[in-house]
Amino acid sequence: MTTVETESGVLAGDERMLIDGELQLTSSGATFEVIHPASEEVAGQATDGTVDDMGRAVAAARRAFDETDWSRDLEFRHHCLTQLHEALERNKERLRRILITEVGCPVTVSGSQIESPIEEVKHWADHGKNFEYLVDTGVHPTQLGPARRKIHYEPVGVVGAITPWNVPFYLNIAETVPALMAGNTVVLKPAQLTPWSGSEYGRIVAEETDIPAGVFNVVVSNANEVGAALSADPRVDMITFTGSTATGRAILAAGAPTVKKTLLELGGKSAHIVLDDADFNACLPLAAMMACVMSGQSCILPSRILLPRSRYEEGLEILKTMMEGFPVGDPWTPGNMQGPQISKTQRQKVLGLIRSGIDSGARLVTGGGVPENLPVGYYTQPTLLADVDPDSQVAQDEIFGPVLTVTPYDTDDDAVAIANNTIYGLSGEVSSGDVDRAFAIATRMRTGNVTINGKSHFGITSPFGGTKQSGLGYRNGEEGYKEYLEAKTIGMPDTAAP
Ligand code: ADP
Repeated sequence: MTTVETESGVLAGDERMLIDGELQLTSSGATFEVIHPASEEVAGQATDGTVDDMGRAVAAARRAFDETDWSRDLEFRHHCLTQLHEALERNKERLRRILITEVGCPVTVSGSQIESPIEEVKHWADHGKNFEYLVDTGVHPTQLGPARRKIHYEPVGVVGAITPWNVPFYLNIAETVPALMAGNTVVLKPAQLTPWSGSEYGRIVAEETDIPAGVFNVVVSNANEVGAALSADPRVDMITFTGSTATGRAILAAGAPTVKKTLLELGGKSAHIVLDDADFNACLPLAAMMACVMSGQSCILPSRILLPRSRYEEGLEILKTMMEGFPVGDPWTPGNMQGPQISKTQRQKVLGLIRSGIDSGARLVTGGGVPENLPVGYYTQPTLLADVDPDSQVAQDEIFGPVLTVTPYDTDDDAVAIANNTIYGLSGEVSSGDVDRAFAIATRMRTGNVTINGKSHFGITSPFGGTKQSGLGYRNGEEGYKEYLEAKTIGMPDTAAP
């Protein structure tokens, strides 16, 4: 959490996209509106790229991969990404204002969406520079006598990166920078609601770095078909995607005919198991805060709280108090920690799921609607639903709103069973006075990552990925870098030097 001194106010981003080194508008001149979710006003326009524009971007990325030295010149890539890091630093406050304009993210909590990804560019530049691309694995017996084997790590090729709107600048960086540093060329397709976090990134690459034409492209569009075209294009070797499970399935199917490598980070419905020996006054206020700070628009949010029946009402009271006092309001006002939902449609979806929970027997403890003092902007009250049936829709569907569902349990085994009763497996949390007990529970949760007592699993140096229908592959850590590389084993006479 940071308090940021910034010039405040809506700021429109660059309307243009980046294709083959040229900042450009789509040939028809078509545009689409970007709405500021805190005022419901049009903040500006973005160019509405077409399937044809996407085809040109893929062709440029293909040519840059096949015909330039980008994939082989590690020193040059390190130089370019170091430049990119410095350029993003210079543009930091502009990027922050664009983020707040597009997403409605509160300025007070914008550090994780601006400072952190900018730091990650430097991390990947240095990680990639020091990575061992050639590894001698020694001499192996074969039917034809001993063979020395070496692994040569090589870039995958053309990477298509498709990003969502909830943390757009962060994910644009997270999906593209390790790919570029590993020697791939990239086509980025940002989400419709947040085109400028992508187009500004393209502008900065074009105007302030030596990244060659075609190596990095950004295609902005209001049409899902443009992302679909990227994920089906036979010239693309890999798709990296963050978004809904439904779209992830479509991307996987579109890539099947050409057997594309696919890295998917999809939906979640993570559980927070609060054990009966937990410090409720430490873990539950934090749980309520995490549900609200991004207006609940976070895939890793532990949105299902499981409380021991023996301390159920005590836990509910703490959550209720925190949610009722939570600072919701104008994202430009320092101190506010929850802004609006990103769009009217998203808020309707959140309110609809809350309604479905109540209809299926849940008890509305607080919230459930639009804050009375915020009639303009897509704001939602922090909402607490108790007695939630683990099989009901509100306990099964990803809400993406400032909503916690609470379900009581009797034994630790019951808690694990309820936590695992989902198609998702992205993250989870355990709180307990006994870390060993919490760890044992964490290992039984069928999920990609777990936080114990508020100590986050998430960070650039640790692999992050979903199990079950929450994803394929990893971001971050050594595993995350290797996703953008192929491991080519080369066998040779054992007399070769190691
Ligand atoms: P949401 O439904 O919350 O907008 P999505 O997962 O559909 O989230 O969107 C994430 C990203 O996927 C966006 O950039 C969007 O344009 C893109 N997208 C949507 N549909 C498809 C598709 N069929 N193929 C490829 N990309 C898509």
